[in-house]
Amino acid sequence: MSIVAIIEFDEAGVATGSRLGDAATPVLRVDDLGPTRGDGVFETASLVHGNVQALEAHLARFVQSAAMLELPRPDVEIWRDAVRAVAASLTSQGVTSGSIKFVLTRGVEGSGVPTGWVLGTASPDFTRERTDGIRVVLLDRGYRHDVPQTAPWLLAGAKTLSYAVNRAAQREAARRGADDVLFVSSDGYLLEGPTSSLLLRLGSRLVTPRVDLGILAGTTQADLFTWAESAGYATGYELLTPDDLESADAAWLVSSVRHVAPVRSVDGRHRAVDGELTGRLNAALDARTS
Ligand code: PLP
Repeated sequence: MSIVAIIEFDEAGVATGSRLGDAATPVLRVDDLGPTRGDGVFETASLVHGNVQALEAHLARFVQSAAMLELPRPDVEIWRDAVRAVAASLTSQGVTSGSIKFVLTRGVEGSGVPTGWVLGTASPDFTRERTDGIRVVLLDRGYRHDVPQTAPWLLAGAKTLSYAVNRAAQREAARRGADDVLFVSSDGYLLEGPTSSLLLRLGSRLVTPRVDLGILAGTTQADLFTWAESAGYATGYELLTPDDLESADAAWLVSSVRHVAPVRSVDGRHRAVDGELTGRLNAALDARTS
Protein backbone atom coordinates (compact mmCIF):
# COMPACT_ATOMS: atom_id res chain seq x y z
CA MET A 1 0.00 0.00 0.00
CA SER A 2 1.28 3.49 -0.88
CA ILE A 3 0.12 7.01 -0.07
CA VAL A 4 1.50 10.12 -1.77
CA ALA A 5 1.43 13.83 -0.99
CA ILE A 6 2.54 16.24 -3.68
CA ILE A 7 4.25 19.48 -2.71
CA GLU A 8 2.83 22.40 -4.65
CA PHE A 9 5.10 25.18 -5.93
CA ASP A 10 4.21 28.47 -7.58
CA GLU A 11 5.82 29.70 -10.80
CA ALA A 12 8.66 31.27 -8.86
CA GLY A 13 9.49 27.90 -7.28
CA VAL A 14 8.12 28.81 -3.84
CA ALA A 15 6.30 26.00 -2.02
CA THR A 16 2.67 26.93 -1.36
CA GLY A 17 1.28 23.77 0.26
CA SER A 18 0.68 20.08 -0.33
CA ARG A 19 -2.17 17.80 -1.30
CA LEU A 20 -2.69 14.09 -0.87
CA GLY A 21 -2.68 12.30 -4.21
CA ASP A 22 -3.16 8.88 -5.58
CA ALA A 23 0.08 6.84 -5.76
CA ALA A 24 -0.93 5.76 -9.26
CA THR A 25 -1.16 9.34 -10.56
CA PRO A 26 2.03 10.53 -12.32
CA VAL A 27 3.91 13.31 -10.49
CA LEU A 28 7.06 13.53 -12.58
CA ARG A 29 7.83 14.73 -16.08
CA VAL A 30 10.38 12.75 -18.07
CA ASP A 31 12.65 15.82 -18.22
CA ASP A 32 12.75 16.28 -14.44
CA LEU A 33 16.34 16.51 -13.19
CA GLY A 34 15.55 14.07 -10.37
CA PRO A 35 15.30 11.00 -12.60
CA THR A 36 17.49 12.28 -15.44
CA ARG A 37 20.47 13.39 -13.30
CA GLY A 38 19.81 12.13 -9.80
CA ASP A 39 19.81 15.84 -8.99
CA GLY A 40 17.88 16.10 -5.75
CA VAL A 41 17.75 15.04 -2.13
CA PHE A 42 15.63 12.75 -0.02
CA GLU A 43 14.94 11.43 3.45
CA THR A 44 13.33 8.25 4.71
CA ALA A 45 11.71 8.21 8.15
CA SER A 46 9.99 5.34 9.90
CA LEU A 47 6.35 5.29 10.92
CA VAL A 48 5.64 3.17 14.00
CA HIS A 49 2.13 3.00 15.45
CA GLY A 50 1.21 6.40 14.05
CA ASN A 51 4.44 8.19 15.06
CA VAL A 52 6.88 9.48 12.45
CA GLN A 53 10.13 8.87 14.28
CA ALA A 54 12.89 11.47 14.44
CA LEU A 55 10.87 13.69 12.08
CA GLU A 56 12.56 16.92 13.15
CA ALA A 57 16.02 15.39 12.68
CA HIS A 58 15.03 14.15 9.21
CA LEU A 59 13.67 17.57 8.27
CA ALA A 60 16.86 19.25 9.49
CA ARG A 61 19.04 16.86 7.47
CA PHE A 62 16.77 17.39 4.43
CA VAL A 63 17.38 21.14 4.68
CA GLN A 64 21.11 20.55 5.06
CA SER A 65 21.32 18.20 2.06
CA ALA A 66 19.35 20.72 -0.04
CA ALA A 67 21.82 23.44 0.98
CA MET A 68 24.78 21.26 -0.03
CA LEU A 69 23.20 20.89 -3.51
CA GLU A 70 22.25 24.59 -3.64
CA LEU A 71 18.59 23.64 -4.02
CA PRO A 72 15.87 26.01 -2.77
CA ARG A 73 15.57 25.69 0.99
CA PRO A 74 12.63 23.33 1.78
CA ASP A 75 9.81 25.04 3.67
CA VAL A 76 9.90 22.84 6.76
CA GLU A 77 6.33 23.56 7.84
CA ILE A 78 4.91 22.52 4.48
CA TRP A 79 7.01 19.35 4.36
CA ARG A 80 6.19 18.47 7.99
CA ASP A 81 2.45 18.82 7.28
CA ALA A 82 2.75 16.69 4.14
CA VAL A 83 4.67 13.96 5.99
CA ARG A 84 2.11 13.97 8.81
CA ALA A 85 -0.80 13.79 6.35
CA VAL A 86 0.74 10.77 4.61
CA ALA A 87 1.48 9.14 7.98
CA ALA A 88 -2.08 9.70 9.21
CA SER A 89 -3.54 8.29 6.02
CA LEU A 90 -1.32 5.17 6.14
CA THR A 91 -2.11 4.67 9.82
CA SER A 92 -5.84 5.03 9.23
CA GLN A 93 -5.55 2.20 6.72
CA GLY A 94 -4.11 -0.11 9.37
CA VAL A 95 -0.38 0.27 8.68
CA THR A 96 1.48 0.02 12.02
CA SER A 97 4.98 -0.08 10.58
CA GLY A 98 5.89 1.90 7.50
CA SER A 99 8.36 4.22 5.85
CA ILE A 100 7.86 7.79 4.71
CA LYS A 101 10.16 8.98 1.97
CA PHE A 102 10.32 12.67 1.07
CA VAL A 103 11.97 13.80 -2.13
CA LEU A 104 12.97 17.21 -3.53
CA THR A 105 14.40 17.44 -7.06
CA ARG A 106 15.73 20.42 -9.00
CA GLY A 107 12.63 20.04 -11.17
CA VAL A 108 12.20 20.26 -14.91
CA GLU A 109 15.43 21.42 -16.52
CA GLY A 110 15.46 25.20 -16.98
CA SER A 111 12.17 25.79 -15.14
CA GLY A 112 13.61 26.94 -11.84
CA VAL A 113 10.70 25.17 -10.13
CA PRO A 114 11.57 22.19 -7.93
CA THR A 115 9.53 19.00 -7.72
CA GLY A 116 8.63 17.49 -4.37
CA TRP A 117 6.60 14.64 -3.01
CA VAL A 118 6.18 12.43 0.04
CA LEU A 119 5.62 8.70 -0.36
CA GLY A 120 4.43 6.45 2.45
CA THR A 121 4.53 2.66 2.21
CA ALA A 122 4.08 -0.27 4.55
CA SER A 123 7.40 -1.78 5.72
CA PRO A 124 8.42 -5.40 5.27
CA ASP A 125 9.03 -7.52 8.38
CA PHE A 126 12.61 -6.98 9.61
CA THR A 127 12.44 -9.42 12.55
CA ARG A 128 15.03 -11.79 11.06
CA GLU A 129 17.61 -9.04 10.40
CA ARG A 130 16.98 -7.45 13.81
CA THR A 131 17.43 -10.70 15.75
CA ASP A 132 19.58 -13.15 13.73
CA GLY A 133 21.74 -10.35 12.35
CA ILE A 134 23.33 -9.62 8.99
CA ARG A 135 26.47 -10.67 7.11
CA VAL A 136 28.53 -7.67 6.08
CA VAL A 137 31.41 -7.14 3.65
CA LEU A 138 33.90 -4.29 3.82
CA LEU A 139 34.06 -2.41 0.51
CA ASP A 140 36.37 0.42 -0.50
CA ARG A 141 34.39 3.61 -1.13
CA GLY A 142 37.26 4.99 -3.16
CA TYR A 143 37.51 8.32 -1.31
CA ARG A 144 39.89 9.33 1.44
CA HIS A 145 38.39 10.08 4.85
CA ASP A 146 39.01 13.82 4.31
CA VAL A 147 37.04 14.01 1.03
CA PRO A 148 34.50 16.58 2.35
CA GLN A 149 37.37 19.04 2.82
CA THR A 150 39.42 18.19 -0.30
CA ALA A 151 36.55 17.70 -2.79
CA PRO A 152 33.26 19.14 -1.46
CA TRP A 153 31.70 18.89 -4.94
CA LEU A 154 31.52 15.11 -4.46
CA LEU A 155 28.74 15.88 -1.95
CA ALA A 156 29.93 13.24 0.50
CA GLY A 157 27.56 13.39 3.45
CA ALA A 158 24.56 14.76 1.52
CA LYS A 159 21.56 12.45 1.08
CA THR A 160 21.25 12.85 -2.67
CA LEU A 161 19.10 10.91 -5.13
CA SER A 162 22.31 9.55 -6.71
CA TYR A 163 22.20 6.19 -4.91
CA ALA A 164 23.13 4.01 -7.92
CA VAL A 165 26.60 3.46 -6.41
CA ASN A 166 25.08 2.42 -3.08
CA ARG A 167 22.81 -0.04 -4.87
CA ALA A 168 25.76 -1.43 -6.86
CA ALA A 169 27.66 -1.97 -3.61
CA GLN A 170 24.71 -3.93 -2.22
CA ARG A 171 24.70 -6.12 -5.33
CA GLU A 172 28.43 -6.71 -4.81
CA ALA A 173 27.67 -7.78 -1.23
CA ALA A 174 25.08 -10.26 -2.52
CA ARG A 175 27.62 -11.62 -5.04
CA ARG A 176 29.96 -12.22 -2.09
CA GLY A 177 27.23 -14.06 -0.14
CA ALA A 178 26.56 -11.19 2.27
CA ASP A 179 23.52 -9.11 3.20
CA ASP A 180 25.00 -5.64 3.45
CA VAL A 181 28.06 -3.42 3.08
CA LEU A 182 30.27 -1.38 5.36
CA PHE A 183 32.20 1.20 3.34
CA VAL A 184 35.84 1.88 4.19
CA SER A 185 37.69 5.01 3.06
CA SER A 186 40.55 4.50 0.60
CA ASP A 187 42.92 5.30 3.47
CA GLY A 188 41.46 2.65 5.75
CA TYR A 189 38.78 4.18 8.00
CA LEU A 190 35.37 2.70 8.68
CA LEU A 191 32.57 4.87 7.27
CA GLU A 192 28.92 3.74 6.95
CA GLY A 193 26.70 1.32 5.07
CA PRO A 194 24.95 2.25 1.81
CA THR A 195 21.78 2.92 3.84
CA SER A 196 22.94 2.71 7.45
CA SER A 197 25.31 3.96 10.15
CA LEU A 198 27.82 1.83 12.04
CA LEU A 199 27.67 1.41 15.79
CA LEU A 200 30.29 -0.47 17.84
CA ARG A 201 30.30 -1.48 21.48
CA LEU A 202 33.76 -1.22 23.04
CA GLY A 203 33.20 -2.35 26.62
CA SER A 204 30.81 0.16 28.16
CA ARG A 205 31.23 2.64 25.30
CA LEU A 206 29.15 2.92 22.14
CA VAL A 207 31.05 4.55 19.29
CA THR A 208 30.37 5.50 15.69
CA PRO A 209 32.57 6.98 12.94
CA ARG A 210 32.99 10.77 13.03
CA VAL A 211 30.52 12.62 10.82
CA ASP A 212 33.22 14.82 9.27
CA LEU A 213 34.38 11.80 7.23
CA GLY A 214 31.84 12.44 4.47
CA ILE A 215 29.13 10.21 5.92
CA LEU A 216 25.54 10.96 6.82
CA ALA A 217 24.84 12.10 10.35
CA GLY A 218 22.47 9.22 11.23
CA THR A 219 19.21 10.11 12.92
CA THR A 220 18.89 6.56 14.30
CA GLN A 221 22.43 6.56 15.66
CA ALA A 222 21.77 9.94 17.31
CA ASP A 223 18.62 8.65 19.04
CA LEU A 224 20.48 5.50 20.11
CA PHE A 225 23.25 7.64 21.65
CA THR A 226 20.64 9.60 23.61
CA TRP A 227 19.17 6.34 24.92
CA ALA A 228 22.62 4.83 25.59
CA GLU A 229 23.70 7.83 27.67
CA SER A 230 20.55 7.51 29.80
CA ALA A 231 21.32 3.78 30.18
CA GLY A 232 24.84 4.45 31.49
CA TYR A 233 26.94 3.98 28.37
CA ALA A 234 29.55 6.49 27.30
CA THR A 235 29.29 7.49 23.62
CA GLY A 236 31.76 8.84 21.12
CA TYR A 237 32.42 9.87 17.51
CA GLU A 238 35.77 8.43 16.48
CA LEU A 239 38.19 7.53 13.73
CA LEU A 240 37.73 3.76 13.55
CA THR A 241 39.52 1.08 11.55
CA PRO A 242 38.72 -2.51 10.55
CA ASP A 243 40.87 -3.60 13.52
CA ASP A 244 38.47 -1.74 15.84
CA LEU A 245 35.58 -3.60 14.24
CA GLU A 246 37.40 -6.92 14.68
CA SER A 247 38.06 -6.30 18.37
CA ALA A 248 34.68 -4.65 19.18
CA ASP A 249 32.40 -6.48 21.61
CA ALA A 250 29.49 -5.98 19.22
CA ALA A 251 28.72 -4.20 15.96
CA TRP A 252 25.47 -3.05 14.36
CA LEU A 253 24.27 -1.32 11.22
CA VAL A 254 21.48 1.05 12.23
CA SER A 255 18.97 2.95 10.11
CA SER A 256 15.55 4.52 10.22
CA VAL A 257 13.46 1.73 8.77
CA ARG A 258 15.38 -1.51 9.50
CA HIS A 259 16.40 -0.14 12.91
CA VAL A 260 19.23 -2.07 14.64
CA ALA A 261 20.70 -5.05 12.78
CA PRO A 262 23.54 -6.86 14.57
CA VAL A 263 26.54 -7.72 12.39
CA ARG A 264 27.07 -11.48 12.61
CA SER A 265 29.92 -11.81 10.14
CA VAL A 266 32.45 -9.57 8.43
CA ASP A 267 33.98 -10.72 5.11
CA GLY A 268 32.85 -14.26 5.92
CA ARG A 269 34.37 -14.31 9.43
CA HIS A 270 31.83 -14.98 12.16
CA ARG A 271 31.57 -12.43 14.97
CA ALA A 272 29.68 -12.42 18.24
CA VAL A 273 26.20 -10.88 18.41
CA ASP A 274 25.09 -9.10 21.61
CA GLY A 275 21.48 -10.28 21.53
CA GLU A 276 20.54 -8.69 24.82
CA LEU A 277 21.74 -5.18 23.96
CA THR A 278 20.37 -5.49 20.41
CA GLY A 279 16.93 -6.15 21.89
CA ARG A 280 17.22 -3.15 24.20
CA LEU A 281 18.37 -0.86 21.36
CA ASN A 282 15.49 -1.93 19.11
CA ALA A 283 13.01 -1.53 21.96
CA ALA A 284 14.34 2.00 22.61
CA LEU A 285 13.81 2.89 18.95
CA ASP A 286 10.31 1.41 18.87
CA ALA A 287 9.36 3.35 21.99
CA ARG A 288 10.07 6.74 20.39
CA THR A 289 7.00 8.90 20.05
CA SER A 290 8.66 11.69 18.07
N1 PLP B 1 24.13 6.45 5.86
C1 PLP B 1 23.52 6.41 4.66
C2 PLP B 1 24.35 6.52 3.42
C3 PLP B 1 22.12 6.27 4.58
O1 PLP B 1 21.52 6.25 3.38
C4 PLP B 1 21.38 6.16 5.76
C5 PLP B 1 19.92 6.01 5.73
O2 PLP B 1 19.35 5.70 4.71
C6 PLP B 1 22.05 6.19 7.00
C7 PLP B 1 23.43 6.36 7.01
C8 PLP B 1 21.31 6.07 8.29
O3 PLP B 1 20.59 7.23 8.53
P1 PLP B 1 19.27 7.25 9.40
O4 PLP B 1 19.57 6.57 10.68
O5 PLP B 1 18.95 8.67 9.57
O6 PLP B 1 18.24 6.48 8.61
